Amino acid sequence: MNRKVRVRFAPSPTGPLHMGGVRTALYNFLFAKKHGGDFILRLEDTDQSRYVQGAEEYIIESLKWCGIVPNEGQGFGGGIHAPYRQSERKHLYKQYVMQLIENETAYYAFDTPEEIEAMRERFKSTNTASYNYVTREAMKNSLTLPKDEVNRRLASGEPYVIRIKIPRKEEIRVKDLIRGNVVVHSSQMDDKVLFKSDGMPTYHLANVVDDYLMEITHVIRGEEWLPSAPLHVFLYKCLGWEQVMPEFAHLPLLLKPEGNGKLSKRDGDRLGFPVFPLQWHDSNTGETNAGYREKGYFPEAFINMLALLGWNPGNNTEIMSLQEMINLFSIERISKSGAKFDAAKTKWFNQQYLRNKTNAELLVALEAQVKAHGFAAAIDYLEKVINLIKEKAYFINEFWELSNYFFKSPTTYDQDVVHKKWKDSVPHFISQLEQAFYEIDTFNAEEIEKVFKHTAQSLDLSPGQLMQIFRVCISGVSSGPALFETTALIGKTEIISRLGKALSQLKNLV
Ligand code: GLU
Repeated sequence: MNRKVRVRFAPSPTGPLHMGGVRTALYNFLFAKKHGGDFILRLEDTDQSRYVQGAEEYIIESLKWCGIVPNEGQGFGGGIHAPYRQSERKHLYKQYVMQLIENETAYYAFDTPEEIEAMRERFKSTNTASYNYVTREAMKNSLTLPKDEVNRRLASGEPYVIRIKIPRKEEIRVKDLIRGNVVVHSSQMDDKVLFKSDGMPTYHLANVVDDYLMEITHVIRGEEWLPSAPLHVFLYKCLGWEQVMPEFAHLPLLLKPEGNGKLSKRDGDRLGFPVFPLQWHDSNTGETNAGYREKGYFPEAFINMLALLGWNPGNNTEIMSLQEMINLFSIERISKSGAKFDAAKTKWFNQQYLRNKTNAELLVALEAQVKAHGFAAAIDYLEKVINLIKEKAYFINEFWELSNYFFKSPTTYDQDVVHKKWKDSVPHFISQLEQAFYEIDTFNAEEIEKVFKHTAQSLDLSPGQLMQIFRVCISGVSSGPALFETTALIGKTEIISRLGKALSQLKNLV
């Protein structure tokens, strides 16, 4: 049977979306697009106690910012499978769990939390301290209680849960597209709760039922869900849906930069990089976590970086547009082992994207920043500034910091350079240079360099030794783009005036 590829991203709205979650969404999206299929956003909000205000909006906004746009799903309009919030699909699940009760692959359990705790205590030493094929025999459930007793309890409205009845001896085979076959013996599994008397399904039941109803063909999700996969496979079997069971692909973890353990929120705080796509403010704790968007990352750079954390296109290509990633994507190239996050490499991606932007695109940003600081300049001047600083910037929001001296004379001078390089010979050199610049007709980089060198040599000084202090005199800072190009662009009159100013401010130092 050839079914249309349908994949889903199914986060629980329990907080902001971690970048690992964005990667899961991205791989699902790439896979769907590659195969001409659909990508769906489903919100798994059955555990109301873990619901976090604003998390749903955050997830939707993050996907939009990244350009990972679902074909259908919460916040994106629907197809025939709406609604896409599990809390609004509550009425759908009961019939399936009743089907399991009828075919005796699930049962009612009436145990109180205290009774379960006592059971755990009792079986602690036996390695079977969970609710399973051994312990269920000693508990209050529809397998041990007489039928009329079960009916009486149900009729009187006593709280219950419905548990899956995991068989004693069965090999459950999970075919994983990344990991190969994973075989789990049913004796290792427990009788997970599927449904509660408040009418809410648990994650496992809702997840499987919805994947079935939404005609999902491939489940691509984080490695942390691998232990749940045998139960899901077993549920497909019990519900008679084996023929349409999706294929599974469990993605490797995103690891800390040092490689030991999962990348967490705390690593971001510790090492100074965001772990969330967008800034997140937790109104309960008052804590704010940084986001890639607010830090100034381009969404294209962010997702390009993320795509390569656990997948490679089979060659050394690193910079890829979304369309190129779609074309090259394949599950076979997803690695089994965890991918180490690299903050420096992440910045590098942004820098590459910045360099690939046209000057016209970058100009808008520079113009806005210049204006915000109370200055103005002609378009062609701004464009030339962009040309010079483009190579130096990682982020657009650094433009003003990198270029302010193109718009105003410096008010401070880099102290380290001044201390090291403002030697006895420098004031005289600067005033000679002022004179020599004055004589230049065509104030371009080539002429400036020639005059600079000539002036230094005529005083028996090494031009190379004077470049940095000259830069500080005209810009205030110790480094920047090509020095003589910078000088030319700032212009003859302004440079001469800045040299005069630097001289009068710094001359008393020696
Ligand atoms: N709700 C689960 C999560 O929060 C979804 C797991 C799955 O994709 O099956 O990640």
